[in-house]
Amino acid sequence: MRLVLLGAPGSGKGTQAKLLKEEFNIPHISTGDLLRGAIVEKTELGLAAKIVMDKGQLVNDEIVLGMLKDRLSKDDARDGFILDGFPRNLVQADMLDVLLKEINMPAEHAILIAVDPEEVVGRIAKRAEVEGRTDDTEEVVRDRIKIYENLTSPVVDHYKKHEVLSEVLGTGTIEQVQQRILSVLRF
Ligand code: ADP
Repeated sequence: MRLVLLGAPGSGKGTQAKLLKEEFNIPHISTGDLLRGAIVEKTELGLAAKIVMDKGQLVNDEIVLGMLKDRLSKDDARDGFILDGFPRNLVQADMLDVLLKEINMPAEHAILIAVDPEEVVGRIAKRAEVEGRTDDTEEVVRDRIKIYENLTSPVVDHYKKHEVLSEVLGTGTIEQVQQRILSVLRF
């Protein structure tokens, strides 16, 4: 199973990706998590990325692609993967197509988890209380949503054109959303 998850910040991509990872026994590859890992390790890349992430902006395409390429080359990704947070713009979508073609693993499904932007702001405010992410302040969240609408949402059409896109409703319980995704994948 080679799956790309799409959706606004706070749409529940990360939560659903973790459940799908258990279900299908394939790795959940989140570029946000990879970047946060680099920040914790205080690598040069991590320190540079933190400044950009804390403003809610996108980290350089080549840098994120490099991290992703490394991660996809690990053994556990041989039988598939769940991509969360990449691609985030059309340039990355093209880069990903090229990379996956090179390694002979084209994406089989792209799933958009659709949620209302106002709902998303409320969800992230709750997450901020629990996780304390420095990019989850209300102002930065609004900027991240704008970036999503301007740069990331066109990626949905990219996958529509490739005829691999399905859309599921992201409201309701975590289990309901999971069932909607599973029924798309089992179809
Ligand atoms: P969310 O889905 O809630 O926005 P993520 O953990 O996916 O959170 O991403 C957090 C931040 O990491 C983004 O706002 C961005 O700065 C950076 N980031 C993650 N993935 C990418 C990517 N593919 N390209 C550029 N920046 C990225």
